[in-house]
Amino acid sequence: MTEIPDDHPRAESLRTRHRIEAGVEKGITSKQGLIAQGRGEAYDYLLGEETIPSADRAERAAAARLLLADHAVLSVNGNVAALVPGEMVELADAVGADLEVNLFNRTEERMAAIADHLRDHGATDVKGLAADARIPGLDHERAKVDEDGIYDADVVLVPLEDGDRAEALSAMGKTEIVVDLNPMSRSARVAAVPIIDNIVRAVPNVTKHARELQDASREELEAIVSEFDREAALEQAERAIRQGDLD
Ligand code: ATP
Ligand code: MG
Repeated sequence: MTEIPDDHPRAESLRTRHRIEAGVEKGITSKQGLIAQGRGEAYDYLLGEETIPSADRAERAAAARLLLADHAVLSVNGNVAALVPGEMVELADAVGADLEVNLFNRTEERMAAIADHLRDHGATDVKGLAADARIPGLDHERAKVDEDGIYDADVVLVPLEDGDRAEALSAMGKTEIVVDLNPMSRSARVAAVPIIDNIVRAVPNVTKHARELQDASREELEAIVSEFDREAALEQAERAIRQGDLD
């Protein structure tokens, strides 16, 4: 990997891009994942490559929602595994959630490679390999989940999820937390908590909030959840992108 000078204006973005490239080389990220990353980068550029205040509020609401859950599951795809494997393990530990590998383009090789990669980053139990339940309303391959994982969960964090699957999960009555840089994406639009931020910033920030809220009462957590306004969060992100207020 070529060295990226710290003073390069796109340094962080280039490092992220290299991690996706390395993910493809290791067999954990699909080629489509490269394209998805390119899409995300374009929105991030317009957002100023920073966590805007409405995204920070969404990340706090997500932390509260995860802490309140009976059974929270964090879904991991090839881009998520390449970009934030250790950070996902830390978040799962902080909120007591399960990790489940869930791929749009599912192959047994990639499932196993991602599960191994998560274990290399400290995960002890990785779900998704049993695939003994189905999300209703989706075709066979896209519908596969674990019965004691996403199928059973009341709260799911689905970063960079495809629109159809995000809609199908919310139709199952699950509380969905979506991380997506595009506030107009269907996935973001169906989420109870849409986080319009780069996954590399979003996940550590949800963990930070979860640690701060560790000792909060149920009432305090419920207040944070009910004060969060998903429409306002989507609108504020879209406004920031359209204004392209770069400094
Ligand atoms: P639709 O939402 O219209 O169904 P799609 O979601 O199927 O389209 P993709 O290209 O697969 O289309 O979507 C990838 C999504 O992931 C994009 O909305 C993109 O903004 C988002 N994304 C990509 N990289 C990141 C990242 N690093 N952090 C957060 N979001 C990202
Ligand atoms: Mg989408």
